[in-house]
Parts: sequence; C-alpha cells; structure tokens
Amino acid sequence: MNKLEQLYEGKAKKVFATEDPNLVIVDYKDDATAGDGAKKGTIRGKGVVNNKLSNNLMKMLAEQGVPTHFVEELSDRETLVKKVQIVPLEVIVRNVAAGSFSKRYGVAEGTVFKAPTLEFSYKNDDLHDPLINHYHALALELATQEEIDTISAYAFKVNEILSKYLLQFNIRLIDFKLEFGRLADGTIVLADEISPDTCRFWDATTGAHLDKDLFRRDLGGEEEAYQEVMKRLLG
Ligand code: 5GP
Repeated sequence: MNKLEQLYEGKAKKVFATEDPNLVIVDYKDDATAGDGAKKGTIRGKGVVNNKLSNNLMKMLAEQGVPTHFVEELSDRETLVKKVQIVPLEVIVRNVAAGSFSKRYGVAEGTVFKAPTLEFSYKNDDLHDPLINHYHALALELATQEEIDTISAYAFKVNEILSKYLLQFNIRLIDFKLEFGRLADGTIVLADEISPDTCRFWDATTGAHLDKDLFRRDLGGEEEAYQEVMKRLLG
C-alpha cells in the first residue's frame, strides 16, 4: 500500500491517502503540544511508542469486541487504518480525579471514584474543545442518540478492558480520551490513538506519572516514561 497525497496534518500525526479510498496511512510525529497549543515541543521517540502501543491496544480491544480503525502496522511510525469521518467529540473516561476534573470541581488529584465517569468535549480548536453534555451534542448535530449510546457503551468497555490489562504491568489507568469515527456505511469504530499522549498512566506502586503530564507540567523525564511504558507492555 503506497502513501499518496497528505490529507491532513494534526498536532501529533499526519494522514495520507492510499490507492484504496477506504484506507489511509497514519504517520506518528514526535511533536508535542500542551495547554491548548500554548506549549510546543518534541518528545524524542514518542511517535514510535504511540504507534506501537496504540496498535497493540487496539488489536486487543478488537479481539474483545470493540471495533477499531486498525488494519496493519506498516513501520515504526506508520499504520494502515480504515478511513473514517471523525465524530467531533472527545470522549473522556475517568476512574480517578485528575487534570481538568480536579480543577473544575475542586477535587484532589488521586481521589478514586466509586464508579467511572464519562464526559464529552466538543472537538473544536477555535472554541478550545469545550465540555458539553449529550443534549448539546444532539442539538449541535455532532452525533445521533444511537451513536452516542454506542460510543458511551464502547468507552466504558474500553475502560474495563484496559484498566485490567494495564494493572498486569503495574500501571493504573487514571483517565483517558477516545475518539470515534464512522465508516462509509455508518458503523462506529474506535479511531485516533490510545497512548501516553491520550491517557493518564500512574505507576501502581509509586504513583509516578508515565504519560504526557510530565511534558504538560514541565516535570521532565517524558522521553524515559514513554519508553518505560513501551518496555512494560511490549517487552
Ligand atoms: P483532562 O480533561 O483532565 O485534561 O484530560 C483527561 C484525559 O483525557 C487525560 O488522560 C488526557 O490525556 C486526555 N485528553 C483530554 N483532552 C485531550 C487532548 O486534547 N489531547 C490529548 N492528547 N489528550 C487529551
């Protein structure tokens, strides 16, 4: 499968057309942004880690009944995926208070919820991805009720599968962001990526951050943390 013209360049990935109109190639970059684009930098090796980790996790999720866009890993940084129309919702699942939840609601980071929570943000850079509820998503015609129900069910299922899986590697899944897409026939599939860019991973023993918060919060050690997650999960 050949890389044809570039269709899109995002903050962390480029997307290229292929000869097949239903397939595209994603190319992961080392570029990192934070604070709504206010902070820009590079995390060396991040593209390779995110590509390999995301593919590994999506393969596992597909085997357990969550359909995904993943088709085939082509190289360290490139993956063939099904072409989707992205549903413009950031779907966030949380098990433990952290980040914007802690800030917005005044809850200490690390507070464990009795049950996982789900929230949606409207994926729109100009509006800075505002938090919305599902009625807003319907009013804005971002998705149908049926799609929102499917997406919500998949998101909680991903949480159950991933939380259990990661604990085997002594990693706690604190929270994460998913994006879903529609195939040409309207089927909803998990898209984008699942990586230390999009999840909070805490070492289950020490509580150390093993994710992009190291970069976002200028804590340092992000390169090593990304490598550490890859080593634990992929050997
Ligand atoms: P928070 O809302 O606390 O900032 O983020 C919650 C979770 O979703 C974190 O795991 C974070 O990595 C992920 N997340 C939320 N928004 C974004 C985003 O715009 N980009 C990325 N990469 N992750 C996000």
